[in-house]
Amino acid sequence: MPESREWLIQWLRDAHAMEEQAETMLSGQLSRIESYPELGERIRSHLEETKEQAMRLKTCLDALGEGSSMLKDALGKLTATAQSLSGVFAGDEVMKGSLASYTFEHMEIASYSILIAAANAAGEAEIARLCEQNLREEEAMAEWLKNNLPQVTMQFLTRADVDSDSAKR
Ligand code: MG
Ligand code: FE
Repeated sequence: MPESREWLIQWLRDAHAMEEQAETMLSGQLSRIESYPELGERIRSHLEETKEQAMRLKTCLDALGEGSSMLKDALGKLTATAQSLSGVFAGDEVMKGSLASYTFEHMEIASYSILIAAANAAGEAEIARLCEQNLREEEAMAEWLKNNLPQVTMQFLTRADVDSDSAKR
């Protein structure tokens, strides 16, 4: 099925651009959440995973005889930069960032679920296996965020109280 192979290539490129965007987003968040050490630690480790994921996708594209699309990657990076900057003056950037992260992980989960099915349809078992590795990391990150968002929210609200008290003095 030559056509499913073409779709697989296109979706792998899209996923590679998505991971480049994730890398920019996560680095942007890291620089603004010094007061949230657990969140920072999890984001730092997911940032490392994200770089590995992008490399796995490159491996998949190389196996199909395709380099990844650099133009698309560059565009993805610009978009992510804009997004990581947009919350800077909001005051609740840690909450905006958490919302964006949780949403982004689910987009990644959907992307890899699609890629695994497409790889299997194209008879590319090794590509399916690499995408399953990425999928498991996205699911773990989404699960961590789900479990820790209440805690991050409480930390944010406590800090907001402290900040407004000191502003009153
Ligand atoms: Mg990812
Ligand atoms: Fe992710």
